[in-house]
Amino acid sequence: MRKNIVAGNWKMNTSFNEAIELAENLKSLENTFDKNTEVIVCPPFLYTKTLIDIFYDSSIKVGVQNSASNEEGAYTGEVSAKMIKSINADYVIIGHSERREYYCENDEILNTKLNLVLKNNLKPIFCVGEQLEDRKAGNHFDVIKSQIINGTFGLDKEQFANIIIAYEPVWAIGTGETASPEQAQEIHLFIRNLISEKYGNNIANNISILYGGSVKPNNAKEIFSKTDVDGGLIGGAALNANDFKEIINSFN
Ligand code: PEP
Repeated sequence: MRKNIVAGNWKMNTSFNEAIELAENLKSLENTFDKNTEVIVCPPFLYTKTLIDIFYDSSIKVGVQNSASNEEGAYTGEVSAKMIKSINADYVIIGHSERREYYCENDEILNTKLNLVLKNNLKPIFCVGEQLEDRKAGNHFDVIKSQIINGTFGLDKEQFANIIIAYEPVWAIGTGETASPEQAQEIHLFIRNLISEKYGNNIANNISILYGGSVKPNNAKEIFSKTDVDGGLIGGAALNANDFKEIINSFN
């Protein structure tokens, strides 16, 4: 059966010392974490190797927030999937709405990144989500469908089985406004059905679909209780070790 996963996206937050302190706090709390939940932290690139070293004897996994759309070479400032693999990171967030919006990452670029991440044996967390206008206009199903199809359905079955999907309605990210558990469940089931039509029931039932958008200790239980919600991608609340721990322990 599919895994429960809680992944923290630290975004462009923390100084180096703050990152170390947060990681060490998480490590000290690890024995209180739900053992059936995969815990991932995605710090800023610069701190990745340090966190991997801190967590070397821990079950906490480390991911990154982005990777390049080229394999290697003259791409100033970029970090490739091969480099990420070479320091033993495990996960890569692809297509976060902030990357789509501020860095013009379209489906084609994201699909290229996804392929490179998989080629390098890393596990992608592929994000989709509609804007507020899409939801208000009732277009959210169409938006999600096209992001899923154009971003991921070029993969073969074996590749697809290795990805994690995160549904993050853009209007709920960092706004304090969450999708209701019912809204999350409705879209998660919609995504799972799309996957089932393309890749079959078995793959669809084994893919973890995370919800992201203002998940906090006080709402995580209700959201995670939904059948097709397999955990969360957490922004703000991942910057506080105790809040993150409470979210990790929010599965029934
Ligand atoms: C995110 O960055 O993916 C996110 C969901 O942020 P927040 O939890 O702060 O809304």
